[in-house]
Amino acid sequence: MSDVVVARSLDEAREALASQPDATVLAGGTDLMVEINRGLRRPRHVVGVAQVPDLRRWSVADNRVVVGAGVTYTEMMTTALADAAPALAQAARTVGSPPIRNAGTLGGNLGTASPAGDTLPVLAALNAEIVVVGPDGERRMGLNDFVVGVKRTSLRPGELIVAAELDRPRGRQEFLKIGPRNAMVISMAGLALVADHDARTVRCALGAVAAGIPRAREAEAWVAERIDWENGASVDDAVADEFGSRVAAAASPIDDHRSTAAYRRHAVAVLATRALKRAFAPGGNRDA
Ligand SMILES: Cc1cc2nc3c(=O)[nH]c(=O)nc-3n(C[C@H](O)[C@H](O)[C@H](O)COP(=O)(O)OP(=O)(O)OC[C@H]3O[C@@H](n4cnc5c(N)ncnc54)[C@H](O)[C@@H]3O)c2cc1C
Repeated sequence: MSDVVVARSLDEAREALASQPDATVLAGGTDLMVEINRGLRRPRHVVGVAQVPDLRRWSVADNRVVVGAGVTYTEMMTTALADAAPALAQAARTVGSPPIRNAGTLGGNLGTASPAGDTLPVLAALNAEIVVVGPDGERRMGLNDFVVGVKRTSLRPGELIVAAELDRPRGRQEFLKIGPRNAMVISMAGLALVADHDARTVRCALGAVAAGIPRAREAEAWVAERIDWENGASVDDAVADEFGSRVAAAASPIDDHRSTAAYRRHAVAVLATRALKRAFAPGGNRDA
């Protein structure tokens, strides 16, 4: 039998976690309740954070977007946040079904830290800083210092994920994923790509094809030099194809019940080529 504290403010959540550092945080419950119902987890103490207003907030400034840990997928898709972080909205649209999107949160996706978590490549490509608070105060870290393995985070006992702070570059953003069908599907491979026309960079991060969320840094640097940033920032098809192959080299996929490693690597190449072509197609998206 668990004891459950329903926090109604950030202070209440912090206090509850400070007095029971081994407590499990419950947000939308779309991962945690599945694990409890399957008997995989039996938390003795639970701190519910779904009613903490500070965690539900998001804000947009010129170059930065702050998304509270309690922001749901539905909010990522249906509010002005979708214009400020389009790849996050694209990822949110692919998650589960409407009830899952109404309950599931960014913080829960981070807390679960599955390589197939659909927001994670978006956060990596947008240079996210993950903000956590705990007994030692606030800590900030990049995604790859937060997610340290398959379903493993660097959260310390008593810490709470508060928000993710994202870049807001001038340029298009894409999120693409592949699964065995179009809806209600966990990624077999996922990819986020962000073009930054001011920095003249392309950032590309991969989901479900490695233990963590790798950035395809060699491919990013290679393609940035082949984009004619001065004249309409277009890419030709041969560059996009080669980019796909180079991105696939950053994957280290495994064979499992969802897919083979070979298919995952192929899928990542196809997604990367497609995302790059979309990001640099004429017309469209924000400010580019
Ligand atoms: C039918 C179904 C379909 C799904 N489809 C997808 C999909 O397509 N893509 C996808 O990525 N996921 C999918 N999921 C998984 C799930 O919906 C997401 O991972 C979701 O983001 C979890 O959020 P939550 O708020 O429900 O988290 P919870 O279940 O409440 O928590 C998940 C984990 O995060 C921790 N946690 C939550 N919030 C915090 C916080 N603020 N601070 C510290 N730790 C915290 C919890 O302790 C727990 O360990 C699906 C789940 C189901 C049941």
